[in-house]
Order: sequence, then structure tokens, then C-alpha cells
Amino acid sequence: AKKTPGYQIRCYNSTMQSNISKRYQIQQSLKQALLDEAFYPVYQPIVNSQGMLKGFELLSRWQHSEFGPIAPDTFIPLLEEEGLISLLTQQMLHKGLAQLAQWRKTLPELTLSINLSVPDIADAQLPELLQQLLQKQQLPATALTLEITESILIQQKDHITKKLEHLKMQGFSIALDDFGTGYSSLSYLNNYTVDILKIDRSFVSNLSDPKARRLTLAIIHLAKELELKVTAEGVEQLQQLTILQDEYCHFYQGYYFSKPLTVNELEQSQWLKPSSQ
Ligand code: C2E
Ligand code: CA
Ligand code: CA
Ligand code: CA
Repeated sequence: AKKTPGYQIRCYNSTMQSNISKRYQIQQSLKQALLDEAFYPVYQPIVNSQGMLKGFELLSRWQHSEFGPIAPDTFIPLLEEEGLISLLTQQMLHKGLAQLAQWRKTLPELTLSINLSVPDIADAQLPELLQQLLQKQQLPATALTLEITESILIQQKDHITKKLEHLKMQGFSIALDDFGTGYSSLSYLNNYTVDILKIDRSFVSNLSDPKARRLTLAIIHLAKELELKVTAEGVEQLQQLTILQDEYCHFYQGYYFSKPLTVNELEQSQWLKPSSQ
């Protein structure tokens, strides 16, 4: 578009003004929300190839006092920008691992996956906190999967790789999240730091397109060749599941099985019955 004088002024209407001030207000309330523990976990079931419950992925939610629910895609980047994300991670680890210990009384093999951001990996206190929490809750490290995205891996490669190797030596599983969407560097897959590849939802939702489908299947084969486990994310339809099952993914996750649920919703569901695992 041709630049005209006053362009910015004409576009700067009241909607934008209120969006900017909304964003500003949200940003201003992050710290207090953390202090108030206004963020809470929901849990999405992950099933194995038999359709039995493997574990849950913890996803954070925020009910803002003024604006109502705010999506993680909004508040996670803001927390990262404000240097507050590690505080959220710590709260979610406390809550999630206490919950997991509770559930494992009836489902002893249950696992919990938790999402980490770059500052979490850089956080020198994380390994110790994890160790403390496991001890407190009497959990083995194998009960916890740490999910990281490819974007984490491209930053400070050597440093991050060392940190991940350390976490792995502590016994945690490492899952590479949103695989295929970022700057995939296949070299990461070859140095034994990653245990699980999570095939991004965008691949799963395009399975009806033959070319996209071949690409997805090739990724699954690659992962298996490298002896990684594969989780298919964002499975919404039986048709998608059928295609993926032909290729034997190890784990599945998506609305077809369940959306993320609150603790109350889970306790009223079939998921926590001893027969679900
Ligand atoms: P993610 O880790 O890739 O999580 C999967 C997202 O896809 C979740 O969105 C989940 O609710 C959604 N989802 C699951 N199954 C389906 C499906 O079948 N169809 C569709 N359309 N969506 C599905 P959510 O909860 O909004 O979270 C978005 C992202 O925010 C997450 O993506 C993760 O990167 C980040 N996030 C959420 N909680 C945390 C957290 O506690 N810490 C960090 N660092 N990041 C978080
Ligand atoms: Ca994830
Ligand atoms: Ca993902
Ligand atoms: Ca994602």
C-alpha cells in the first residue's frame, strides 16, 4: 500500500487503542496473578497404541479477573518477556507433581508431561527443584516428561545440550514438542538427548492430503529409525487415528480422546478409573 501522510494516525482507531491498553493491563497483572496463584493446571490425556491412558500433559490456564480466560498463546510469551515464566513453571511443577503422586496411588504407571521454556532450561536451580519435588512426592524421575520445543534447541546449542543431557541423566524423559514446525535440526535427534518426538498437530490435520501425508509418515519412520518414541498430537478424528495407527505411533493425544480437563472434570470422568491404564 502507498504510504500516505498521517497513515498511522488514521489507523490508530479506538479498537486498537483499547487492544493496546488491554495488553498493557494484562502485562501489568501478570506478577500479581502469579502471587495469587491465579494460574492453574489442566490435564490432557495421552494414550498408548492400545488406547490405554499413558499419562497427562499439563497445560496452564488463566482466568483473568477482568478479561476472563486468557489463552496460553497470549500469556506464555508475555511471561517470557517479563522474565516471569520460571515462576509459572515452578508453580505448575509443585501442583502437577503433587497431583501426579495422588493419582499414581491408583494408576502406578501414570506419567506427567510439562512444558518448559528457554529460561527454564537455563535456570541453574531447575535440576535441584525437580529432585526436591520428586523426593517430597516419592516419585521416580521416569514419571516426568519435560517437553521442549525446537526453538529451545537452536539457542545456545552447546549450553542447552549440556543442560538437557544433565536432566536426562537424572532420569527424566525429554520430548521434542511441535516437531516439524520450527527449525528442525536433525542433528539433535542423533545425540541421545531426546526420547520422544511429538508430531505437530499441523501434520495430523493435513493427513487427508497425499503429499502432506507422505511427509508425516516419513517423519514417523525417521523417528523410529532413531529409536525415538512418537506421539501424534492434535488427533481430532477417527480417520486421522486410523492412518496414524497404520504407522504405529507409540502415543496419541488430541480432542478425539479428550480435551484438557480440570482436576474436577477428570475426577468425574472415566480416565482415572484403575481400568483406564
Ligand atoms: P503445546 O504444548 O503444543 O500444547 C498443545 C496445545 O494444543 C494445547 O493448547 C492443547 O489444548 C491444544 N490441543 C490439544 N489437542 C488438540 C486437538 O485435538 N485439536 C486442537 N485444535 N488443539 C488441541 P493450549 O493449552 O492453548 O496451549 C498452547 C501452548 O501454550 C502449548 O502448546 C504450549 O506451548 C504453551 N503452554 C501451555 N501451558 C504452558 C506452560 O505451563 N508452560 C509453558 N512453557 N508453555 C505452556
Ligand atoms: Ca507441549
Ligand atoms: Ca505441541
Ligand atoms: Ca505448540
